[in-house]
Amino acid sequence: MDEFAAVIKAREFVRKVNPTGIPVRVEAYVEEVKAVLRTQTDLGPDEPGWSLCNGGKHYICVNANDRPERQRFTICHELAHIVLGLPSEHNELPWWSYAKRPPAEIICDVFAAELILPYRLFKPLADEAAIDMDSVEDLAGRFLASITATGSRFAAVVTAPCAFVLSEQGKVRYASRSNALRDAYAWIQPRLDLPRGSASEKVRAGATCDGPEKVDADIWFSDWERGGMLLEEARHFQQWDQTLTLLSFVDDEVPSAKREELREDEEELGLEELDGNLRWPSKKRRR
Ligand SMILES: [Zn+2]
Repeated sequence: MDEFAAVIKAREFVRKVNPTGIPVRVEAYVEEVKAVLRTQTDLGPDEPGWSLCNGGKHYICVNANDRPERQRFTICHELAHIVLGLPSEHNELPWWSYAKRPPAEIICDVFAAELILPYRLFKPLADEAAIDMDSVEDLAGRFLASITATGSRFAAVVTAPCAFVLSEQGKVRYASRSNALRDAYAWIQPRLDLPRGSASEKVRAGATCDGPEKVDADIWFSDWERGGMLLEEARHFQQWDQTLTLLSFVDDEVPSAKREELREDEEELGLEELDGNLRWPSKKRRR
């Protein structure tokens, strides 16, 4: 099972329950699978919850000491294990760490985010919001979801070109992109070091980020030939060495390959074209 399949399953599941208000009632999801939900007060800080099946009945237990948005996410993550039939791989890793998270666990997180932030309720609000961290934080509050889950859903559903990146220890762990960026092949390499000169690198080094900063698009996207400036906003969480990044394009438009610039380059190269191999200038030369 991949993330795409998990999203389809999650949307089917959400359609059955058909939540209409926000924040969505996660209890309605629990009722849909006829699971028994309990809270437990003696779970450690790195144990968000668990589920088990006994005699055909599912039991979900959640850490009562966690914040409400964390508990809601845990419940939906456990529902993902039940609905998708994926066994838990909750080993010794802390819940917040993406560094070595098994793929099945990430798939369950994706499923959970679809439940907490249902497409039909979330997309219209995301589309009418400004593309910035304030919007992500505001929506997170309204949906009672974490900033991370909300940001990654925000980038996935908005019509404008947008990406949300989660990095840990200065390396990209997870990137969510809107269709506009996918269509333009704006690819953010997993395990990429936070790009030099990016707002994210600066906040990780202790600077404050008061609003979007303009950066060259090619510092974030691999093999990016279209140029353009991104607006980058970043938040850093020292206790987990986690950095959250929101990227969008100035004017909310992906630049098309610039014809004039290309023509100039072709002229500059002149005779070299005659051998049939058009040599594209290197990125360095074009700057
Ligand atoms: Zn799990």
